Amino acid sequence: MTVIALDDTDSRERGMCSTYLATRLAETLRDAGYDVERRLLVRLDPAVEHKTRGNAAVALHTACPSATAFDHACEAVERWSEFEDDRTSPGVVVAPDDPDAVSAAVARFARDAVREHHSLGRALSLAADHGYHHRGWDGGRGRIGALAAVGAWVGLDEWTYEHISYRAFDRCGTPREVDVDSVFAAADWGYPTVWDTVDRVEGEAVCVPNAPGPILYGIRGDDPARCRAVAARIESEPVDRRATFVTNQGTDAHLHDDGFDALRDGRASRVSGVVTTPPETRRGGHVFFGLGPSDVPNTGTETPRTAVDCVAFEPTKHFRDRVRSLRPGDRLTVCGEVSAGTLKLEKFAVRSLVRTERVTPTCPDCGRSMESAGRGQGYRCRDCETRSGMATRRLDRDLERGWYEVPPCARRHVAKPLVRGGFDAPTHPER
Ligand code: ZN
Repeated sequence: MTVIALDDTDSRERGMCSTYLATRLAETLRDAGYDVERRLLVRLDPAVEHKTRGNAAVALHTACPSATAFDHACEAVERWSEFEDDRTSPGVVVAPDDPDAVSAAVARFARDAVREHHSLGRALSLAADHGYHHRGWDGGRGRIGALAAVGAWVGLDEWTYEHISYRAFDRCGTPREVDVDSVFAAADWGYPTVWDTVDRVEGEAVCVPNAPGPILYGIRGDDPARCRAVAARIESEPVDRRATFVTNQGTDAHLHDDGFDALRDGRASRVSGVVTTPPETRRGGHVFFGLGPSDVPNTGTETPRTAVDCVAFEPTKHFRDRVRSLRPGDRLTVCGEVSAGTLKLEKFAVRSLVRTERVTPTCPDCGRSMESAGRGQGYRCRDCETRSGMATRRLDRDLERGWYEVPPCARRHVAKPLVRGGFDAPTHPER
């Protein structure tokens, strides 16, 4: 077996994509008589998504001998890559190994590449150590992602599927003709095995990309046959070719389990704490609140310190209403990437809610509001000389214990939808 891996062949403006190149290359290999057993689509460190759209590397597991595979892969990159885009820096890595037999070092490189940035130098020295064929164009930074795609089959342990339907290449750049009603009906039929096909609240066919490029629609889910069956129910312009990828999309593979001390820019974390400031809607409709360590002693007089600001951006739509319902003192686990010191929320779990709030007592004799009798002295009525301790009022809360998430229209590729299950508390999935 041979692993052929490619990355950074995409273009932001022209919308070429790595999966299309991999699909064409797989067809070339099959035409030459070589079986292609598996196609992998690996979403890498989401913090470097700016580099290519979605930052995805691809790998083919094929029976083609490695030297021949390398020649075919280089030809495919030269034919299909977007060399006119300055930011495109394609790379090919070919490993003459069974995908299950890659070394622990390459598997580790893959695991880390999903969570953090690697240097090109590190990728090239690892590739050289293992005798892998590699080639880069325009700097060849894509060899970082390509090497990660070589190691991913061993390095990552959770997989989902995406069945992609492509347009005829000469239609790229024209509006896609997809019957939205048929997409919604197919999505209902396939749910919950197939997810993030549509956003029912926003009325959006999420599976149909907005950017130019050859993808007509991509159907994601936990079962490849079910993804293909959903695709078959969608009415659209002619589908030129189809391919099913095994992928780390929807797995939360990017998240580190962190304490507040570990949070830093460019890192995606899962961290637990207590809400320290009331949610505030700022310009643009983005909703912010503070989160701090919950293990500090709560004396009742001090608010815990804010360790990080969390934000639900405007495109997360009604998820912001969940965030606006939070109150200082609520205990949460939040997930998201830190950028410019702010954690961009992908989901959060309510661990406990503040159920009461302190109120100033009213005088039992005259009914007027009482006044503080001094620090720790309770309250008194100045006129009647009556005294009282602290009074509390029960709060009605719109939230329940458990996980809340952004809607499908705002989901990042690698973020795990709640409908997939396996969470440590009840879930409130968006569909
Ligand atoms: Zn009174």
